[in-house]
This record gives sequence, structure tokens and C-alpha cells, in this order.
Amino acid sequence: MTPRTAEVVICGAGIAGIAAAYHLTRQGITDVVLVDERAPLSLTSDKSTECYRNLWPGPGDAMVAAMNRSIDLLEEQARESGNIFRMNRRGYLFASADPASIPRFIKSAHEAAALGSGPARVHDTNASDYHPAPADGLENQPVGIDVITDRTLIRRHFPYLADDTVALFHGRRCGWFSGQQLGMHMLERARDKGVRLVSGRVEKITTTGGRVSGVTVNGTTLATPRVVNAAGPFLGAVGRMLGVDIPVYCEQHAKIAFADTLGAMPREAPLLIWIDPVRIAWTDEERSALASSRPDLLEEIPTGAHGRPEGAGDSPIVLLLWTYHLESVEPTFPMAFDPAYAELTIRGMARMVPAFARYADRFPRAVVDGGYYTKTRENRFLAGPLPVEGAFVCGGLGGYGLMASNVAGELVASHVTGRSLPPYASAFTLARYDDPAYRALLERWGESGQL
Ligand SMILES: Cc1cc2nc3c(=O)[nH]c(=O)nc-3n(C[C@H](O)[C@H](O)[C@H](O)COP(=O)(O)OP(=O)(O)OC[C@H]3O[C@@H](n4cnc5c(N)ncnc54)[C@H](O)[C@@H]3O)c2cc1C
Repeated sequence: MTPRTAEVVICGAGIAGIAAAYHLTRQGITDVVLVDERAPLSLTSDKSTECYRNLWPGPGDAMVAAMNRSIDLLEEQARESGNIFRMNRRGYLFASADPASIPRFIKSAHEAAALGSGPARVHDTNASDYHPAPADGLENQPVGIDVITDRTLIRRHFPYLADDTVALFHGRRCGWFSGQQLGMHMLERARDKGVRLVSGRVEKITTTGGRVSGVTVNGTTLATPRVVNAAGPFLGAVGRMLGVDIPVYCEQHAKIAFADTLGAMPREAPLLIWIDPVRIAWTDEERSALASSRPDLLEEIPTGAHGRPEGAGDSPIVLLLWTYHLESVEPTFPMAFDPAYAELTIRGMARMVPAFARYADRFPRAVVDGGYYTKTRENRFLAGPLPVEGAFVCGGLGGYGLMASNVAGELVASHVTGRSLPPYASAFTLARYDDPAYRALLERWGESGQL
């Protein structure tokens, strides 16, 4: 039965809504109703690669500060739960075969250090003291970045990478975890404290005298003074129920999962990311067949594929992603994917890890899934009040919503409860767009930080 009143109603039980509910309870508000028309975490939040990193570009250090806070909270939850969501610290390993990447990686490492990601260490001799990451566990690991430019050292630690790899950038406060387990952990803790999960569609948000007074779910109205819009790709649609324009758009992103029966990717590998443009190694026969059907695939593709091993113990599963087309789209479900996506992604990954080329004779059966990155134009999330009293937003989390869920949820909860806010909070409010200086900055914004 739908409850009749609540102190806060949250629309959306993806990772953003669940984190908001969890952090509200940590800040003393337990009369919370979490509404979703689907099963919790089932729209976008279970489609993620589940990785995290404290490497984010400027301007300013807000994104790194926020992500460091989110990772602090993840580590705290991992420790108190006996690491139920299997968080590791394997790192993100960016690789390149372009000698020009050597100074670029060193420069980026120093910039990252200046933004708060941790110290930069450059390993340019075979004898350099580089510590590889353990496959499991979080404790006593370095932070910051190791840049490796000595090819013997590269081959010693990463013999499976392409022979012509000349530079590695290993981000260390990075890794992955089970997003589903993290989400369920936070949901269960929140429900233990009194949060009620209601199945249904938020159809309407009512305001009285300019402030939120009710939320209608499947024809029944709950009286509430506060609503949190955590509707993921439908953030804009739920914003319109309040008459508020939420400036986000969606991009489709896919990934594949398959059993790596040939053992192309070592089970202890970190997240592997090739940064150079890739031209797929088609045979002459394939090339002439593609010339008429898919000429786009014969071009050089500006980004590389990335991927990681998935699962503990004897799991042979590998996850791979390659975003070779990117445009803003309307979110529609069920999603449709390029029928060639799985094969292309394996071929793309073969540039970085040549053993994947062995699948060219017979491609494995792969599960393709994905979701939408819901993004603001500068790829910084929204966690804070909306311009209707009692209304808040928690979303626009792009391709990093699992890792940022804790900080986004905590920020929204702090706005609701009136707690003091950290210095980075203003970087994530909708009101940032009202500032002329910020709008001017947007016009010359650099990198978005998206992989
Ligand atoms: C391929 C891929 C790889 C990714 N990799 C990573 C990664 O490595 N690390 C990382 O941190 N993130 C990653 N992400 C991003 C991450 O998955 C998202 O940022 C995150 O899941 C967004 O969570 P959300 O709660 O905002 O949205 P969602 O999970 O979509 O949840 C929104 C919920 O709102 C509900 N809803 C909407 N409208 C209504 C309504 N009117 N009434 C009731 N319910 C409603 C929906 O049913 C849904 O359950 C990846 C995403 C994709 C697609």
C-alpha cells in the first residue's frame, strides 16, 4: 500500500536515489519513501562497468575533491561490511604506443597531483621502484599516479600488452567493485532505518504556494514537503513535473561480457585503457565487404577500447567497452545496439592486448547491454536544490554514477537537512549556471573526463 505521508519522497531507486535515501538516514531523516516503477537498480545502475577513479580534470579541484570523498565513503562501507561489494584497488592503466604520450602522461600526472589525486611518480629506468597492484584488497596501497616509460619495466609487469607500448599511466586510487552489492547494501541499511520502498510511477508533483506539497504515485497522492528527483535518464521529464528545466542530455553506451576461454586477459589485470586512435586490422577480403556496408568501420577510430576481468575465483568473464559513436539521443527502452558491437569491441581491444586477435577465427558469444549516460554539458553531476522550495535533484551522473553515488547522496542529504556543506558543494548545484563567470567558463571548458 502506498503510504499517505513522508518527510521526503525520492523518485528513482537507481544508485542515485538509493544513495540519497541512505545518506538521509545517516543524517537523521528516516521518514523517506523511495519510489520506482522498476526493480531497484535495474535501469542504468546494473549496466555499469563498476569502476572508480579519483582522476578528474579541472577546471578547479571540485571534481577530484568530491570523488575523493566518495571513495572515502566507499572504503568506509567496504571496511564496515567486510567488503561485501568486493572493492579492489587495481587501478586504471592507460597505455599508448605513441612516444608523444610520454611527456603528455608525465604532465597529466603532475596536473592530477596538483588537483589532489595523489603524488606523481615517474619510472624511467628498469630498476625503478614500481609496485604493481594486488588483485584483491584495499589496504596499504599507494595513491597518485605511476607513469612508466621504461619498456623493459613495462614488459616485466605487463607482458600481455602490445609490444610497441611505450608509456603507461597507472592511476592508483582507482579500481572496481560490485555495484549491485553496493546498491543493495545501502538500500538494506536505509530500509533498516525506516525507508519505505514503493513500487510505482511518479506521475505528478504538486506544489502549493510555490512549494512542494505532494507526489502522486499510481493515482495515490502522498503528502510531502520534499521531493528528490533521482530519475536517471528521466531527470528532465520529472523536472518538467515541477516546471523546472534540468539541463541534461543522454548518450547511449554499451558494453560486452563474455567468457574469455582463450585467456587473453590475465585475471589479475587492472582496468586497461588504450588511448591511441585505432584502425581495426581487417583482412583485404573483410575490407572490401565493409566498403559498401559499413565504411565507418574502415576509418581510424579516435578512441581506444577498454576493459577488465570480471568476477572472483575461476571466473573467465571479461567486460569490454568501446564507444566509437557518440551522439545525444532521447532515452528509449528497450535499447538497441549495433549488431557488430561485440565483434568490433574485441577487435578494438586486440590493439592493446594482442591475444584478443585470436578470437578472429571464431568470435565468442557475448552478452551486449548498456544504458544512457545522463550528462550536463560539462559532465559534472547535479546534487542540490531546484528552484522550487522543497525540490532537489540527484543525478546527471554520466558514466561515473556508481563511484560518485556516495558523494552525490551525501550532498543532497546535507542540502535537505541544512548541514554545513563542503567547499566543493556549489560546483554541483543547478544554481552554478546562474553565475555569469561560470557560464563564461563553460564556453572554454576543456576535457569532460569521460573515458
Ligand atoms: C555501459 C555503462 C558503463 C558504465 N560504467 C560505469 C563505471 O565504470 N563506473 C561508474 O561509476 N559508473 C558507470 N556507469 C554510469 C552509471 O551506471 C550511472 O551513472 C548510474 O547508474 C546512474 O544512476 P541513476 O540512479 O542516476 O540512474 P538509474 O539507474 O537509471 O535510476 C533511475 C531510476 O529512476 C526510475 N524512474 C525514472 N522516472 C520515474 C518515474 N516517473 N517514476 C518512478 N520511477 C522513475 C527508473 O525506473 C530508474 O530505476 C556506466 C554506465 C553505462 C551505461
